Amino acid sequence: MPDTDPSGEFALIAWIRGRSPSGGRVALGIGDDCASLRLTPGAEVLVTTDMLMDGRHFRLGEASPAEVGYKALAVNLSDIAAMAGVPVAAFVAVALPRGSAVAVAQGLHEGMAPLAKAFGVTLAGGDTNAWDGPLVVSLTLVGEATARGPVRRSGARPGDSVVVTGPLGGSLLGRHLHPIPRVAEALAMAELAPIRAMIDISDGLASDLGHILEESGGLGATLDAGSIPIHDDARASARLDGRSALDHALNDGEDFELCLTLRPSDADRLLASPPPGLTLRRVGTIEAAPGLRLRGEDGSVVALAGRGFDHLAPGGP
Ligand code: ADP
Ligand code: MG
Repeated sequence: MPDTDPSGEFALIAWIRGRSPSGGRVALGIGDDCASLRLTPGAEVLVTTDMLMDGRHFRLGEASPAEVGYKALAVNLSDIAAMAGVPVAAFVAVALPRGSAVAVAQGLHEGMAPLAKAFGVTLAGGDTNAWDGPLVVSLTLVGEATARGPVRRSGARPGDSVVVTGPLGGSLLGRHLHPIPRVAEALAMAELAPIRAMIDISDGLASDLGHILEESGGLGATLDAGSIPIHDDARASARLDGRSALDHALNDGEDFELCLTLRPSDADRLLASPPPGLTLRRVGTIEAAPGLRLRGEDGSVVALAGRGFDHLAPGGP
C-alpha cells in the first residue's frame, strides 16, 4: 500500500507489515494467521512477555508513544539478556486509545523499530485493538539459548561472587524510559566465564538478588555498601527525597543492568577483562545462611529487606 498515513485497522497493519520484512529465522512474519520461526535445531526456545499500562508503568504525555514502544521492547530484551540468550522475534498486542489510535500505534512502532533492528529482532506479529480506555502494550519476545543453555536464577552457590554490570538507582528521573538491554554483554560474559545465576535488575538490586537466593534453594548474601556502584541519578534522587543514594541504588527499580553470580576465580577473570563498554563491579558474596545482609564501610552488618515493586502488595506501589 502507498506510504501515506493509514486509517483503520487493516491499513495500519499493512503499514506495520511494510516496515517489518521477514527473513532469516522468521520464515513467515506479519500477514498470516501465525508467524513461523525457524530456530536453531536443538536450541532451547526462550519466551518472555511484559505488559506496559498507561497510568501504571508510564503516563502518555510525560512519555511519548515512541518512548513507550522503545521501552516495551527493551524490557523484554533485558529478560533475554538475563538468560544470556539471543532474541529473534517480537509479537506486540496493543489496546489503543480510540481517539488517537493510529498515531499512537505509529509512534509505538517508530520507537520500537530502531531497537529491533539494532538487536536483530523481527516484528513478526501482534494484535490490534482500540477502546475507550488508556494505552496498554503487551510485547512477547521469542529468542533462543546458546548451546550452553539458558542461564537461570537458580544456579548460585555459597561462596560465589555477586557482580553487577553498571551503576544503579534513580532511574525514575528518566533513565527508565531508555534502558540499554545488555544482550551482547551477557553473551560475551557467558563466553568468558561460566555464569552460575543471573537476573536483570527490574525491581531493584535487593529484591532481584533476593529472587536468585530464593531460586537457588534459600541461600543468603552479604553486599558490601562501599562497593555498590551508585548512579548519579541515585544521588540526584537522594537530594530530592532525603533517602540515601545507597538506598536508591539498592531498592529503586528499572535499572535493567544484570546481576550475576560466579565462582570467585571466574569473577576475577571477568573483572580483569570485562566485555567492551561494560563496567563490572563485585558487590558481595553468596552465603549458605539465608537472608540478605549489608556490610557497612565500618564493618557492621545489618539485615536488608528486599522491598522492590510488588504490583499485588496491599495499597499499591
Ligand atoms: P487474526 O484475526 O487471524 O489474528 P489479525 O487481523 O489480528 O489476524 O492480524 C493479521 C496479521 O497482522 C497477523 O499476522 C498478526 O500477527 C499481525 N498483526 C496484527 N496486529 C499487529 C500489530 N499491532 N503489530 C504487528 N503485527 C500485527
Ligand atoms: Mg487477531
